[in-house]
Amino acid sequence: MLDKDCIFCKIIRGEIPSSKVYEDDKMLVFKDIEPKAKVHLLAIPKNHFKLLSEMDKERSEILNYMLKKIPEIANESGLKNGYRLVINQGDDAGQTVFHLHVHILGGETLDW
Ligand code: AMP
Ligand code: ZN
Repeated sequence: MLDKDCIFCKIIRGEIPSSKVYEDDKMLVFKDIEPKAKVHLLAIPKNHFKLLSEMDKERSEILNYMLKKIPEIANESGLKNGYRLVINQGDDAGQTVFHLHVHILGGETLDW
């Protein structure tokens, strides 16, 4: 289920352009528009939910699927030397888009 006003749902529907790296029926991976590392990708589920606290069986299955797929996608994106996954949750983490997303950061040695 997609949300009418959500920016990532608009990307999924193709209403906003994105630099797609991987897509299938369950998930989409595209380049972050303001990269925080040499390689900065965003992996999103193709159903809209905001937070991990809203997890249910279907959502956890998609997230599990994404976590299994991400190593393949990272490898194909040249992140053979490692990468970092980040899931911001809420205001203190600086979450700005409330459609659950996994940041994939790499392409260089990352400061903690
Ligand atoms: P967060 O702060 O965890 O909510 O991350 C949201 C991320 O989405 C930020 O890193 C933004 O740079 C990124 N972002 C926002 N709009 C777009 C867009 N249209 N295309 C690609 N990335 C975007
Ligand atoms: Zn959404």
